Amino acid sequence: TQDGPEARSIASVMPYFPFKGIPRFYDISGFLSLPSTFQRIVDIFVSRYGGLEIDVVAGMDARGFVLGPPIALGMKKKFIMIRKKGKMPNCVSSGEYDCEYGKRGGMCIQKHALSAGERVLIIDDLVATGGTLSAGIQCVKLLGGVVVECACVVELKMFIDPPEGSGMPNRTKLFEE
Ligand code: IMP
Repeated sequence: TQDGPEARSIASVMPYFPFKGIPRFYDISGFLSLPSTFQRIVDIFVSRYGGLEIDVVAGMDARGFVLGPPIALGMKKKFIMIRKKGKMPNCVSSGEYDCEYGKRGGMCIQKHALSAGERVLIIDDLVATGGTLSAGIQCVKLLGGVVVECACVVELKMFIDPPEGSGMPNRTKLFEE
């Protein structure tokens, strides 16, 4: 399904949202009202990760909270939230990070959400530069968790190898550390 018409129908494209500097916004909310597509997406993740050694499914604020719970239930694993800094009590936080939309103030995770050594799958709707996922990985590591994989429904490939002079950040560089 990766590059087929079904994949393209999963996200509608809206120009200049959330602000003028962003040429394309990929809106995944449409498939949430298509139960068979939503179920198929959940099933793909559950069959990929169900057999792996994973203890916890973590959802990224905010659309990871929509996709993560059905995947966690399908895998019979617990679900935890990685939220924007300041949204939950008793947290540890990542540092500031850069993402497609500019600088962001950090993500946070509750101290009791994870035990050291627990193996974590991180879920979000979309990866662009990877800055948000990197902040999520940082949160898990702060509690001694091990990130097995990060998974998204949509991947904006232009951030892997952006055109020269485009000014777009390079995701591979961001993940190098
Ligand atoms: P990144 O940090 O640059 O990889 O951006 C990914 C984060 O921003 C994710 O949490 C996405 O939900 C959000 N995001 C960035 N671009 C889009 C988009 O085109 N559609 C929906 N969400 C987006």
